[in-house]
Amino acid sequence: MASVKTAISLIAHRDATSPVLDAAGIPAVSAGTCGPDLASAPWEFDLAEALAGTPGYGPGASSSDVAPVSTPRQGQLPQEYKDADDGGLEDRILAAKAALGDRVVILGHFYQRDEVIKFADFVGDSFQLANAAKAKPAAEAIVFCGVHFMAETADMLSGPGQSVILPNLAAGCSMADMADIESVSACWEQLAELYGTEPDAQGRVPVIPVTYMNSSAALKAFCGEHGGIVCTSSNAATVLDWAFERGQRVLFFPDQHLGRNTAKAMGVPLDQMPMWNPRQAWGGTDERTLRDARVILWHGFCSVHKRFNVGQIEKARAEFPGVRVIVHPECPMPVVDAADEAGSTDYILKAITAAPAGSTFAIGTEINMVNRLAAQYPQHTIFCLDPVICPCSTMYRIHPGYLAWVLEGLVRGEVLNQITVPEATAIPARVALERMLAAKP
Ligand code: SF4
Repeated sequence: MASVKTAISLIAHRDATSPVLDAAGIPAVSAGTCGPDLASAPWEFDLAEALAGTPGYGPGASSSDVAPVSTPRQGQLPQEYKDADDGGLEDRILAAKAALGDRVVILGHFYQRDEVIKFADFVGDSFQLANAAKAKPAAEAIVFCGVHFMAETADMLSGPGQSVILPNLAAGCSMADMADIESVSACWEQLAELYGTEPDAQGRVPVIPVTYMNSSAALKAFCGEHGGIVCTSSNAATVLDWAFERGQRVLFFPDQHLGRNTAKAMGVPLDQMPMWNPRQAWGGTDERTLRDARVILWHGFCSVHKRFNVGQIEKARAEFPGVRVIVHPECPMPVVDAADEAGSTDYILKAITAAPAGSTFAIGTEINMVNRLAAQYPQHTIFCLDPVICPCSTMYRIHPGYLAWVLEGLVRGEVLNQITVPEATAIPARVALERMLAAKP
């Protein structure tokens, strides 16, 4: 199977004769891409955003999400990296890695593009990667080929002498940006006004804040300071159990879908899960609904996973009888309900690894991961539920050119694009992370 990059390039240039279009009949590669801009180099968007004076997420699934004005922007990549071809960049990256040896560790998220992943020392989800960083104390530099909140978490969990580097500062996360410390603090104050702050007869406080790993360090710190906790898509149910033992209700941010899917599976009725839209008075809900609430869901979502729908599942079942449909819990509830299973990236990987040869999977998660799984497990038929190639916009901003640039900087003794979380934020954020680690099912 061709890489996502090759498929995008062929589609953008309308090469209808490409063998990519008929490889194993996999629909993911045949139906086009969400934007021909994806065939452009990411530095063109760095420049366009600098000229426009406003940040963006770039092409891909998040392209129409609104990037906050505070979104980090990437300065111009030196021309030599823009001019280098794929082979030239590969040689430079390998030479820099060899020169640095154990002094550097490169981490690659499952959703990262193949042209970058091939240089990674570890590939995994955000929390696995943060822990991988911790397991390499000899590494002075951790180059995180993921997005901004992941690099922040790695910085908070890494040793004092380690620098965490994000090769392109514009690699944020549109979902994480949908909840910021100001609007969550404002919501919290309104909820305190409504519920008060006194525990009930069982000692449960009125609200426990729970933040998904995909959030800023400031929000993790908020949770640490307010009796709250962090969750991942693997442990969200365990974390909600932890929160319900200590609180009458939960404020869950930023991903409404993970919160809703998890709480629904635990038996929380939908009418006790109002949504809080920070742009509306009282979050767009009302006092009575809030008083009955068990989980208050923040109005956030992942634009990659929002693309999946029930029609795609019906089509997969019609075309591939017996197909096993697994979707990520960031997908909307009707999609999770229609799928056979829902689980984190790690769950999806383990399910495919454990399946008997000849299995067929339709997967609802980011296209780079799905296509890589299809290539790694040729004994199965694996395809993405969404037939349109539309990668995560911000993961896509990391390109081998930026990786070569930051690695050669390290060889010269220069730390470029360092992500640093101030200790005043990191200390309470670690408290929320440690509560998560201590929470047992
Ligand atoms: S896939 Fe969604 S949640 Fe993950 S980094 Fe991209 S935008 Fe953020």
